Amino acid sequence: MSEQNNEIALNLDEINKKIETAAKKSGRKREDIFLLPVTKTIDTERIQKVFDYGINSFGENKVQEILDKYDKFPNDAVNWHLIGHLQTNKVKYIIDKVKLIHSVDSEKLAQEINKKSEALNKVTDVLVEVNISAEDSKFGIKPENTEEFIKKISKLKNIRIKGLMTVAPYVENSEENRHYFRELRKLSVDIAKENIDNVYMDTLSMGMTNDYEVAIEEGATIVRIGTGIFGKRNYM
Ligand SMILES: *Cc1c(COP(=O)(O)O)cnc(C)c1O
Repeated sequence: MSEQNNEIALNLDEINKKIETAAKKSGRKREDIFLLPVTKTIDTERIQKVFDYGINSFGENKVQEILDKYDKFPNDAVNWHLIGHLQTNKVKYIIDKVKLIHSVDSEKLAQEINKKSEALNKVTDVLVEVNISAEDSKFGIKPENTEEFIKKISKLKNIRIKGLMTVAPYVENSEENRHYFRELRKLSVDIAKENIDNVYMDTLSMGMTNDYEVAIEEGATIVRIGTGIFGKRNYM
């Protein structure tokens, strides 16, 4: 067991080095890139190892997993990010528990997040998920509709649009995804130029275990890494 714990710390050391190298390569600073460990299917004991390492933000793709894990950590000690598809009828369960929702992909969902946030007197930070690779299997707004979508939801007062997120295709050679990351960055820059009220466009959540270095070179500000930290997931 201590060997496994040690392994998590070693993996984090290595990832941090690679993040720094990728940042420097593209003239960026390490501190401009946020490492978000993805803890789906990972038990709290192993999450605790990452917490002890000094990281207190975690990404989950399911509402139920956030609810299961939420009470295992002291209140407010952890910032939970919802990175997976969110059903409108489940917003109410997590609205008071999440720091950032990466996966806004419909007006209905944005309206529900807004409504539930208003009831709690809070403003919720969100990203708009873009289906940059236009895969049928993927959630997200089409790139060509993203600006119009953002203009619409920007009128909602209890959400704050921080930027864009995408899930690139799974590829062995990360270079194959470079153009997608570049396109997402360009989309974010173009939308930022519109100076839309309530739209910040300072966050680009892109890059996972297989391609985060390329994503950083292309402007990622959040990389979401699971396997690279914890090893292969065991889906029960
Ligand atoms: C699982 C998941 C990740 C992490 O994937 P790895 O390849 O294990 O790093 C990132 N983003 C989302 C949305 C995920 O569901």
